[in-house]
Formats: sequence, C-alpha cells, structure tokens
Amino acid sequence: MTDLSKVKGIGSKTILILQKLGINNISDLISYYPYRYEILARTDLSNPNYDDRVVVEGIIESIPTIARFKGRMNRMTFRVNANGLITNVVIFNRAFLKNQLKLGRNIVIIGKYDRPKNTIVASNIKFEPLGDKIKIEPVYHTTNGLSNKMLNNYINNALELYQNAIEDLIPQYIMEAYHFISKKEAFKIIHNPINIEELKKAQIMLKYEELFIFMLKINYLNIKRKNETEGLRRNIDMSRVEGFINSFPFLLTFDQKRSIDEIIKDLRERPRMNRLLQGDVGSGKTIVAVVAMYTNYLSGYQTALMAPTEILAIQHYHTIKNLFKDIDINIELLTSNVERKKRQKIYEEIAKGEIDIIIGTHALIQEELKYQNLGLVITDEQHRFGVNQRANLQNKGYMPDVLYMSATPIPRTYALTIYGDMDISNIKTMPSGRKEVTTYLKSTKELTEVLELMWKELQQNHQIYVIAPLIEESDKIDLTNVNLLKEKMEIAFGKKYNIGILHGKMSNVEKERAMKQFENNKINILISTTIVEVGIDVPNATMMVIFDAHRFGLSTLHQLRGRVGRSHLQSYAILISDKESERLKIMEQTNDGFAISEADFNLRGSGDLFGVRQSGDMVFKIADIKKDFKILLQAKEDSMKLLTSDSFDHTDEYFSLRKILMELTHLN
Ligand code: ADP
Ligand code: MG
Repeated sequence: MTDLSKVKGIGSKTILILQKLGINNISDLISYYPYRYEILARTDLSNPNYDDRVVVEGIIESIPTIARFKGRMNRMTFRVNANGLITNVVIFNRAFLKNQLKLGRNIVIIGKYDRPKNTIVASNIKFEPLGDKIKIEPVYHTTNGLSNKMLNNYINNALELYQNAIEDLIPQYIMEAYHFISKKEAFKIIHNPINIEELKKAQIMLKYEELFIFMLKINYLNIKRKNETEGLRRNIDMSRVEGFINSFPFLLTFDQKRSIDEIIKDLRERPRMNRLLQGDVGSGKTIVAVVAMYTNYLSGYQTALMAPTEILAIQHYHTIKNLFKDIDINIELLTSNVERKKRQKIYEEIAKGEIDIIIGTHALIQEELKYQNLGLVITDEQHRFGVNQRANLQNKGYMPDVLYMSATPIPRTYALTIYGDMDISNIKTMPSGRKEVTTYLKSTKELTEVLELMWKELQQNHQIYVIAPLIEESDKIDLTNVNLLKEKMEIAFGKKYNIGILHGKMSNVEKERAMKQFENNKINILISTTIVEVGIDVPNATMMVIFDAHRFGLSTLHQLRGRVGRSHLQSYAILISDKESERLKIMEQTNDGFAISEADFNLRGSGDLFGVRQSGDMVFKIADIKKDFKILLQAKEDSMKLLTSDSFDHTDEYFSLRKILMELTHLN
C-alpha cells in the first residue's frame, strides 16, 4: 500500500498537496480520518427547541445583495422561503456564490438562527437537497488546493482499489467479544457514514485498534525489559560524582538530588534503566541528565543525548560543554545539518570510542551510526517523540540504559499508562530564589500598555521574547506573522534596541547565529515562532509576549512561558488576545504545569489549533486519550493477555502483530 499515484484522480500535483497534510502513501490516505462530521438534519424553525445550529432547506425569494468592506470582506443578504416561513439569510465572504443563488432555487442553509431578527447567519450553503433522511458529511482538515469533497473522493477511490489489503489486526476472539465490525467496513463508514449508529461502531472499532496496538507495544517493551538478564553493571567512583556536583554554581534541589540517586542506582544495577524524569519547565532536568552522563563516562561508556529540535540540541551542546569545561571529556554535536565530511569524521570517532558524549537530533538514530560502547541514551522533551523512537534508541547499543526527560504535558493517570513501560522520577520543587512568572492577559487595544511594559524591561537591560504563531502570510488565517511583527517592533524600539528573528524556515547557521546573539545579549528582542517553545534557556530574558495567544493550547503557552523566570529576576508573560479569555485566564491564575495540563486536557478541542502536537506519544489518529481512556485501559488489559498467552508466539493469526513488534525493536 504505497504508491499514491495509482489512485484514480491523484496526479503529481495532488501528491504534493497531500504531502503537506502528512499523507505519503495509501495507508496514510485511507486513515486520514475526518476530524468532525456535519450532520444535516432539517431544523423546524417554528419549533423553538432547536440547537444553536440550524439546518434549513428553502427556496430563494429575493436576489442576493452584496455589501463590501475594507480588506476582502463582503456580506451577502437574501430571503428564503423555508416551509412557508420567510427568513433572512446573511452570509459573509461568499460573494462568489451569487451567480448560483438564483431566484426560486432550492438550497440548504447551515448556520445560526437569530429568532428576534428572523435571520439565519449562515456558515455554509449547499445545493444538494436534503431529502428525507439526515445526511452526515465528513469534514477533513484540508489545505489550499484541496477541497473537502476532492479529498473524500480520493480516499474513496483508494479504498476501492485497496480494500482487500485492509487487514484486521485485532484478534478474532476480541472482535467477536466486542461485536466489532471489520476494519474494511469501518474504513468505508468512517469516510461515508450513513447514520450515527453505524458511525459510532466504526469509530469504536478503529479507536480500539489504535489503542490496542499502542498498548501492545508498551506492554511488549515492558515485558522484554523485565526479562532481560544482561545489562550494564558499573562500578562508580562516587567521590568523583560528588566532586562534580560540588563544582556547580548552585546547590541542587532536594528533588534533583533524589532523582540523581534513583538514576545512579539504576546505572549500578544490572537490569537496564528505563526511566522517565518528569519535571515542570525550569525545574532543572538538564543538570540531572548531566550528572548521569558524567557517571556513565566515569564507568567508561558513551552517552547519546537526543533533542527534538536542532536549536535545542545546539543549546544543550554549549551548556554541557561549559559544565564539563574542567574535565577531559570529548563532546560533539551531530545534527542532520552537519556537513558530510564533518559527519563522516564524527561517525568514525564515535565508532572508535573517541567521542564520549554525542548530542544531536534524530541524526543520532541513523542506521549507519555505530557506537563503540553506548552505555546511556537520554532523550529530552520525550513527549515530542513516540513509542517507536523509544524502542529504536534502546537498540542502538549493547543494552544501554535509557533516560527520558519530559515536562509532563499530561496528567499523572494518563502518564502512568502511556509511559507504563518506564520507571518515573519526579522533580516537583523549583530551584530556590526563583520568582513566579507574573502573567497578564491583554487585548489588542491595550498594545500601548504592552509596549510600555516592554520598555521597562529593556531599560533594565533585560531581554524579551515575542512570539508570533505563523511565519508566512496566509490568506486563510490572518495571523500576525514574524516579519510584520519585526517591522512594528522596529518602529517602537529599533532606534535603541536590536531586534532579531528566529523561525523554522531559517537555515541552521542563521538560527544558530540568532540564538548566539540572543544569548550574548546582542539581540534585545527576539521575535520567534513556537520554535523556542522547547528547552531554550536564556536567564536574562525576563519577558515573553505572545500574540494571538488563543491560538495555542494551554500546555504550549506554559512551555513558552517557561522560557522566562529562569533566574532571580522577576519575569513576565503577556498574553495578547481578544478571544477565549476564560481559558487564557487559567494562565494568569496558576504557574503549576500539572494543573495547567489538567485544565488543557479538559478544555481540549476548543479551538486548540496550534497547540496540538503533530507527533509524539499523545497523538493518535482517531483515539483521544482523555475521552477514550476507558478503551485505553481495556486495550491495555486485552493486549497484555494476548502477549502472555501461549499461542501468541506461533499462531499464524498473530503474524502481523508480531511483525509490528519486531519492527519496533529493529531499526527501520
Ligand atoms: P528544564 O527542566 O525546563 O529542562 P533546565 O534544566 O533548562 O530546566 O534548567 C533551568 C535553569 O535553571 C537553567 O538555567 C539551570 O542552570 C538552572 N538550574 C537548574 N538547577 C538549579 C538549581 N538547583 N539552582 C539554581 N538554578 C538551577
Ligand atoms: Mg529542558
């Protein structure tokens, strides 16, 4: 199931568009599920018990009139006769529909009904009659050049071609026990539902399968680890470790010390370490990892530290090099942007064991990369990676110990299940001397105040991050972008202060230069995308200004805010938005990452467009960890039973599942 071009209607142009949506093969395409459904059931306007949203079929009674406003806005108004009731219809920015809206034509209007004004404010107009039954239309996340309908067509064409390749992965006895429909059927229904009962059946089946496979992997990794008899055992000179800790410019917190003890105990003992180090942003996880690296180094092994972004890897490289400056230890940086010659050299040195600590991105798990004696693997911001990467890394060396770091984007109960294959160390206390970040919610009308607050910080020689959600102008969503913000900031502060930008489309060299300049206080205001969300540590930065704050999930905002408040200086976060103030108020009220993740979880789905992770542990295609938690727990139990049954290892039926697990523990 690979080649998209085999699907009817899909040409090379469409392939490029599909790639933008992360659809690279047929299997991606057919499992590109609708994110919601438009349910078209006729509303009886004369009956006041209707929802907010109405669906009305009617005949056009007047020629539409169009009013145009500044920008590209327009408003079209006309009357319809809906089952004898004459109603006004208003629709924005659809002037292009005018030619189709002929007198006497039967149309379907979806929108909100304002009863006192007898007006429907329409969000959509459709030209196919409703008929007697309700209609359910799948709605997909699409992009420019690909309509919802086209996408649905391609999916259906692909389903037709490949339906026989769709295999039920859930064991037959479970399918029967839960009365699941087949996966093939479920796929058809999920993209073309006829009624709600059927749709629910399809959803449940697909959710269960997704969670079942996920938990099968977690359980498998867990069992595998427990059964391992061989692992590294180390003799550690604790006095040297203590000496190293004493060389730090600060005292470790109680939780940092305890986490270090737990890690060192794991390193000493034979079973392989598989530990998650959880702690809120700014709690000081890096230093704990550094002690683990040093311990590992003392016992003669190599360490690999993997970060989700280039910038973070580069920063870790500098921080860690600095912490080890008095120690004869060889540290290198390896990202996919290191040029070939240099990379080749690093590869060789890793293979020969000349490099003790290697820091990088995904480049660290390339197949060509062979370690001489990898003893410890650390991943930072683990929630950005997925379970497959967890497995990949473990297989890199001779049973290396593994430490994952994460800022807990999810509540504890969920974490325990999702990270069920790990032991957990928690850092709950913040380093002493920290002042809580003060957060203000401001509307765009209060921009002058915001600029004044920024002045105050700049005058004290403090630095500021300004966050804009998108890089490029997009005609669909009008967001304040990096370049526009830069112009504005130049006008306000350019005479006295230096303003820099940082975003994902910059080259590596440019990114690194911008970060360096910010670190050295050569840049006073850094305008950036959420690229700075993870890990960046510049203690002199005391203010974080976030435009269009409502576009972000609360956890993302918390991560962003965690970039300031990293020293004894009082720091500020300013969230600018004219919307969703209720949700954003939570940010003013608490600095507790656990509380925020809980709230975020409970509110998720409310316009949380850009906060949703595109990859990593918490992202499922159809399941939702919170809403489907019961299914998750059931899938956990069921998959465990299957794994530990006698028949799992040799029954033909489970071949595909075994294959998935084998792939999990071998490099791609
Ligand atoms: P995170 O847990 O978010 O990864 P970092 O490891 O980046 O946090 O640490 C945040 C900042 O706190 C860094 O500047 C680090 O040097 C500092 N720090 C860490 N531990 C302590 C401590 N015990 N006392 C004072 N500062 C600390
Ligand atoms: Mg960190």
